[in-house]
Amino acid sequence: MNILATENKAVITLFGATGDLAKRKLYTALFKLYQKGYLQDHFALLGTSRHPYTDEEFQQVVRDSIKDVEETRKGEAADFSKHFFYKSHDVTKPEHYTILKKRIEELDKQFGTEGNRLFYMSMAPQFFGTIAMNLKKQDLLSDEGFNRLVIEKPFGRDFDSAKKLNDELSKTFDENQIFRIDHYLGKEMVQNIQALRFGNTIIESLWNNRYIDNIQVTLSEKLGVEERAGYYDNSGALRDMVQNHIMQIVAQLAMEQPVSFTDTDVRVEKIKALRSLRVYTPSEAAANFVRGQYDAGNGTEAYRDADGVAPDSGTETFVAAKLMFDNYRWSGVPFYVRTGKKLADKFTRIDVVFKKPLIDIFADPRHESDQTLNSNVLTIFVEPKSGFAMQLNAKRAGQGFTTQPVDLKYLQSDTDKKESPEPYERLFHDALEGNHTNFASWAEIAYAWKFVDVIRKLWDIEKPQFPNYVPGSMGPAASDELLARDGRQWVYRLNH
Ligand code: NAD
Repeated sequence: MNILATENKAVITLFGATGDLAKRKLYTALFKLYQKGYLQDHFALLGTSRHPYTDEEFQQVVRDSIKDVEETRKGEAADFSKHFFYKSHDVTKPEHYTILKKRIEELDKQFGTEGNRLFYMSMAPQFFGTIAMNLKKQDLLSDEGFNRLVIEKPFGRDFDSAKKLNDELSKTFDENQIFRIDHYLGKEMVQNIQALRFGNTIIESLWNNRYIDNIQVTLSEKLGVEERAGYYDNSGALRDMVQNHIMQIVAQLAMEQPVSFTDTDVRVEKIKALRSLRVYTPSEAAANFVRGQYDAGNGTEAYRDADGVAPDSGTETFVAAKLMFDNYRWSGVPFYVRTGKKLADKFTRIDVVFKKPLIDIFADPRHESDQTLNSNVLTIFVEPKSGFAMQLNAKRAGQGFTTQPVDLKYLQSDTDKKESPEPYERLFHDALEGNHTNFASWAEIAYAWKFVDVIRKLWDIEKPQFPNYVPGSMGPAASDELLARDGRQWVYRLNH
């Protein structure tokens, strides 16, 4: 146990305690916080769902979920699981909350959690509003300590539904008590964007439209929809990836330097950046957004043939787009973004393409192809490898004078990787500490939905020509054409 870590004291009430997310991610995240000392003796988790478990059965579920995490001392997993308790509960039944209230109060006393309460909603979003309402009506909030709500995605399906949900939550919780999860914000290299930018004069001084030609963000998945087909067919890549993860990454790339690195100041700048994102008219949206859906090929079935997907589904499994920020720093610089399923590989990266030198003094006027200099590119590798590379031009060794691109590269070592907390560990920790930096605020979500709603409306009216890309590619040809039209290309492309 790391005795330097500050212990957090709280009763965590987890709605959806037997769900996939809880078993795959949340218990492991909490166990790691326990191993590091951020959780010690003064915490308890009250799990709820409809399943009829006893405390002992639930503790076994928790131990099974964390069995692959190495123990740092013998008996640690067993000791950890003794902090877990269970009440079967139907979130739609007000009378069930009275039972939860009593149990939370008992656990608070038993574990000395000083009235701190964290409510975690890890279940279908249609229940979020109902739970929040009942937490207030049935008086589950504490008068001492903190009351916080952690809420999973998706946060609405469009601006109107997101606003409705936010209004419902706001009746029970203030904005500073709500922690909206976007697990991309828990990733080491997404957090590193700010260190890279605001910690390095040579980067931040060039971070504007005088020196940057374009910025590219790629969230590429190799898998298809698998067992999430039913959910996905109702959502699509625009809602599932662009509105949240891509918007959050882009906001961090575009934002101005915050006054300090506190959650309040960072939020102010992200919101300002999203406010200057150009909201397209329908015709601009048609010109600047590309959608795709994967066909059969390379040994896999087409999206439309997946279980739970309509045979004529118009749901997009790929989106590419050109975004523009109308502000002094970014005027004229396109942010190209893309995400999709069944693409060539699983990775997330950001490529910042700098302008070429205005004059190439190394060009050989005797040859037609006289441009020898490449653009400098800063690539931030978010996953699976974490690190960054700066592509520079250097002299090719040998006689004569030609240049070639070379990479200055930093990749996290395996030891660093081991030290880096998984997104859910980091986010749980931040919520327990009350730090909002890596959570999405309502204003950010609202701007992102307003931007995305225009595209969604357009796509809901116009029938797409699907399927239009093969598994194992980097999406439909129109994605490459989106950049080619501007005389540019994706930095990451196949066979390159
Ligand atoms: P899940 O369907 O596996 O689990 C849902 C849980 O809610 C179960 O414990 C179930 O018993 C409980 N439940 C359902 N109806 C209930 C009711 N009326 N009363 C009480 N309990 C009820 O869902 P999941 O995959 O764990 O996802 C949970 C949340 O996390 C969702 O908001 C989802 O969008 C989000 N999320 C999940 C993942 C993932 O990888 N699974 C990733 C990102 C976000």
